[in-house]
Amino acid sequence: MGKALIIGAGGVASVVVHKCVQNPDVFEEICIASRTLSKCEALKTKLDGGRTKISVAQVDADRTEEVVELIKSFGPDIVINVALPYQDLTIMDACLETGVHYLDTANYEPLDNPKFEYKWQWAYREKFEKAGLTAVLGSGFDPGVTGVFSAYALKHYFDEIHQIDIVDANAGDHGYPFATNFNPEINIREITAKGRYWENGEWVETEPLSEKKVYDLPQIGPKDIYLLYHEELESLAQNMPGLKKIRFWMTFSQNYLNHLKVLENVGMTSIEPIEFEGQKIAPLQFLKAVLPDPASLGPRTKGKTNIGCIFQGTKNGEPKTYYVYNVCDHEECYREVGSQAISYTTGVPAMIGAMMVLKGLWKKPGVYNVEEFDPDPFMEELNKQGLPWVEDFSPTLLD
Ligand code: NDP
Repeated sequence: MGKALIIGAGGVASVVVHKCVQNPDVFEEICIASRTLSKCEALKTKLDGGRTKISVAQVDADRTEEVVELIKSFGPDIVINVALPYQDLTIMDACLETGVHYLDTANYEPLDNPKFEYKWQWAYREKFEKAGLTAVLGSGFDPGVTGVFSAYALKHYFDEIHQIDIVDANAGDHGYPFATNFNPEINIREITAKGRYWENGEWVETEPLSEKKVYDLPQIGPKDIYLLYHEELESLAQNMPGLKKIRFWMTFSQNYLNHLKVLENVGMTSIEPIEFEGQKIAPLQFLKAVLPDPASLGPRTKGKTNIGCIFQGTKNGEPKTYYVYNVCDHEECYREVGSQAISYTTGVPAMIGAMMVLKGLWKKPGVYNVEEFDPDPFMEELNKQGLPWVEDFSPTLLD
């Protein structure tokens, strides 16, 4: 059916590649391209020999001209961007220049102004419309499946959704005193930032990790959950008609938070470059270099994740509640694709999003967040591709 250029060769990219290869009717040919060629080659060596033809390339995706050259030589139908958020715009520019569809899992942020905002990528709407190209933003789990869950809830169960609480729980244990489950730089910055939620048309800011509740998660049990800002809040607040309130909650263990507090107190989570032995280094980037590589957590991690959305709204004038979630087992993910559940729950939806575009089910010129497409075929694929979902029509509410 089509050709995909996958940019990045980290934890998420590895899952995307495994999943593309499992769907050779859709992904006839893929090229794995990243900054470090050896990581692409290692994936090819592991997965070559099936029906999906695999090639590799070295690319610095910060340089649009390098991506353009690669697209011209490989000729993909879509670029799956699973590098870092810093590369979003250069890759989008390359897609525009070469006439190729685009998909990513995290919104752009400039290196020197780390703010999770869609404004930079939404500014490309007209350019993609005019070029007749589709750009799918945020097709991971959160953002990603959480947006698809929201569109599905609205389509099938509600006339109006008034409140959404997204709950992201990871009850996995990797045995290290401290490690992050995905890119440490992005992860730590997300957590140390101020919390924010949206209510009655306004953003309400909270001190980092100051809002805490305990929620009893299906198949995981009661966990401490903390209010965070998360990028899908911005798009869902705009795209869900009638919405009054949306919040995002994530679990953290006390041990994780203690380590984080110490690192923060000694300045290791700062992105402000400092002078060290004649070189400028950002402490957080140095910290990333000394922490365990998220990709190495796979074989050690036991336990489950549970990510879902709790909806409150109305149907036929009556109040209605609905909770839809996925439970993913770290060890099962590792057995299947050699990665833990965090990379798995991001990589599978990235592959499904690309599949939607290649199949023509999610094709409309412009730049869109996932909730702006028909959720049904995506939901169907989640069940088939390893992320089955569970529905609960009388969930415990968060307030
Ligand atoms: P990793 O750090 O494991 O991998 C990132 C990859 O991108 C690495 O292979 C890296 O190359 C490559 N890369 C970085 N810069 C460049 C560049 N300039 N040119 C080419 N390649 C580059 O990250 P993850 O796999 O954990 O995360 C990937 C993306 O997924 C991130 O954007 C993250 O924010 C997003 N994500 C989204 C989630 C969601 O649910 N929506 C959840 C988790 C992650 P090298 O090997 O040389 O370092």
